[in-house]
Amino acid sequence: MLENKDNSRTDISQLGEFGLIDHLTKQFSIQHKSTIKGIGDDAAVITLDEPIVVTTDLLVEGVHFDLSYMPLKHLGYKAVIVNLSDVYAMNATPSQITVSIAASNRFPVEALEELYAGIATAAKIYGIDVVGGDTTSSTSGLLISITAIGHAKKEDIVYRDGAGDSDLLVVSGDLGAAYLGLQILEREKQVFKVNPNSQPDLDAYTYLIERQLKPEARKDIVKLLADLEVLPTSMIDISDGLSSEILHLCKNSKVGCNLYEDKIPLDPQVISTSEEFKMDSTTIALSGGEDYELLFTVKQEDFPKIKGNPNLSIIGHMTHEKEGVHLITRANTKIPIVARGWNSLQEE
Ligand code: ADP
Ligand code: MG
Repeated sequence: MLENKDNSRTDISQLGEFGLIDHLTKQFSIQHKSTIKGIGDDAAVITLDEPIVVTTDLLVEGVHFDLSYMPLKHLGYKAVIVNLSDVYAMNATPSQITVSIAASNRFPVEALEELYAGIATAAKIYGIDVVGGDTTSSTSGLLISITAIGHAKKEDIVYRDGAGDSDLLVVSGDLGAAYLGLQILEREKQVFKVNPNSQPDLDAYTYLIERQLKPEARKDIVKLLADLEVLPTSMIDISDGLSSEILHLCKNSKVGCNLYEDKIPLDPQVISTSEEFKMDSTTIALSGGEDYELLFTVKQEDFPKIKGNPNLSIIGHMTHEKEGVHLITRANTKIPIVARGWNSLQEE
């Protein structure tokens, strides 16, 4: 992504609230026929022929992001992506977003321009209209709340509660990289504190860092499944880690699950960096989070349609609820899967 090299600083108060909104939003034009009115009135007006899917995420500085290693442009991009990922996880198509921000006076106009450049990039790549939002001040830090609006045919929407007890469990892409990317960035932050002149060599971690700083939403997988004529029975996106997402599917669908350790897709950088950190790569995939891959179940009869697809890994199968939720390890032992957020992982 292009970086803004201009270091001049304009106070938000110089533009005023309306001036700022104008300044940040004038770049947005309407792409969708369904957007009747975008930014500029009391409310946006949207017309969709299909059921509407709505989702919101709130990102808080110091809780969800750290600006010492997260460039604002990437933050804007990621804030859009995490919402779009939730719409795709419903097997729906996002078409509009609203963007609300609260910023302290620590943030000059130029910083918000960077944030909006990232938002605009994501909106363009994913074909989304930015149709509104709200802008206010905060006493400390930055907050971003994005709401995504999408649509799907009623019969195509996939919920968390539809898995049957012999369905196959499938995941897109690979897991654990975003968490390790965060560990690398945290480590470099500590090194930088001690020695501000250090020049980090991050070549061995490029994929991990990209997965943390510039995640993508799996729009392509929703299209792939439609092309393959596979309608998942249940689906969720992986924001908190494989184990907690599996538990969500199992709890909502009232089924159990056997997950096979040797089937979990891992990038070579995840394997080598886990070893470097003396961490178990399976634990990272299970608990890491922020991968924004799609986890879904399909009927056994759909196996021929998905087998061998390089974008998809069959990692297990659902079972009767009574059998519980287990990891079958490489050594063929059966370990119960428990929800562990990445906070608990960090405490290890
Ligand atoms: P109101 O006072 O009715 O809430 P605003 O002055 O806050 O209106 O907003 C004016 C217009 O600009 C509205 O269309 C609103 O949705 C849009 N808007 C405000 N803040 C943002 C923002 N941060 N990003 C995108 N659109 C925004
Ligand atoms: Mg407002």
